[in-house]
Amino acid sequence: MAFRFNFSIDENENNESDAHDKVDLQLCSPKHAQEWAEKTKQIVNPVADSSPRPGTDEQRDEMPSKKKLLFKAAKEHDIPEDLNKALENKVMERVSDLYYVNMSVVEMICLDGADREGIVSKSVSSHSDLIPGVYEGGLKIWECTFDLIDYFSEAEIQFTDKTVLDLGCGAGLLGIVALKGKAEKVHFQDYNSTVIDEITLPNTVANCINEGSRMGSGGDGKTSEPPSKRPKKAERSPDALTKCRFFSGEWSEVSQLLLNSNKTFSKYDIILTSETIYNPDYYGALHDTLAQLLDKNGRVYLGSKAHYFGVGGGIYLFEKFVEERKVFRTSIVKIIDKGLQRCIMEMAFKDSS
Ligand code: SAM
Repeated sequence: MAFRFNFSIDENENNESDAHDKVDLQLCSPKHAQEWAEKTKQIVNPVADSSPRPGTDEQRDEMPSKKKLLFKAAKEHDIPEDLNKALENKVMERVSDLYYVNMSVVEMICLDGADREGIVSKSVSSHSDLIPGVYEGGLKIWECTFDLIDYFSEAEIQFTDKTVLDLGCGAGLLGIVALKGKAEKVHFQDYNSTVIDEITLPNTVANCINEGSRMGSGGDGKTSEPPSKRPKKAERSPDALTKCRFFSGEWSEVSQLLLNSNKTFSKYDIILTSETIYNPDYYGALHDTLAQLLDKNGRVYLGSKAHYFGVGGGIYLFEKFVEERKVFRTSIVKIIDKGLQRCIMEMAFKDSS
């Protein structure tokens, strides 16, 4: 038996109703969820709901997801001048050498009015980790994030002097790892502006402050200090933070914003993306965004479950989709066969070196 996650389909952002057409989304096995829950304490909200649901997994799988994608305009988020603002009311946790905000605390603050998009209340009231077109899951750290981080060290992926995009970043840990690996610049994108303001930006600030001058400037990026629940006070903007930009919005919109921006935009050497291919309705936008933003000799590293029950997406479906478009070559570079199978895929342009 696997943990079950509720997944709601919401046709209209303004109709917050009860029109939630619930299906189950099985995201991870209890054992694996447990492993990472121990590591992160708050990963993917594993609601161990074993109550019977109508239909078999196969039947639920076939439930059509609604095609209409809601429009979410793209926006760049400024880094506050007073960095302490980004860390106000935050409680920090640490896994390995990465700091991240305690999301239960963020959720409480958001329920108290800090969430202009209202995604926390919608997610709580519908018991859902995903509400397509409304909330796309960025309030949690999903397990393929950690698969990718493990893979970067196993495969010795080099970020030094690279331009990197963490696409569908949520907590932004992949981008932060790239930053610690001395990337030249790191951009973060999430669908939801609340996620960027309340989670991604505070996490990046906290890691930059805590790593101080070591981040991206020759140190090993590791700290032996014990985890502190209270974020450090920022006296000045750490250099690493000046390498970062933050964006929210739907992929095609963000892509257009970047390509049309006045600031000179150079394509990314590396695009990192974890658990972003659960919904086949988004494959076209995702594929085109990767094709538009990746440098001609760049690489995409994508982490995904083999299959997302309830929504229908998964690595093999995406692989087939990409093959049919004939733009990228793909290769599955790692398979993690614990519980629900998970994979890491590398993508490069067909004609790249
Ligand atoms: N990468 C994070 C992780 O592994 O913890 C978050 C994964 S969350 C399940 C999926 C992310 O993909 C969301 O945070 C959202 O920002 C992004 N996403 C999904 N569909 C999107 C779309 N159509 N346009 C823009 N972003 C999208």
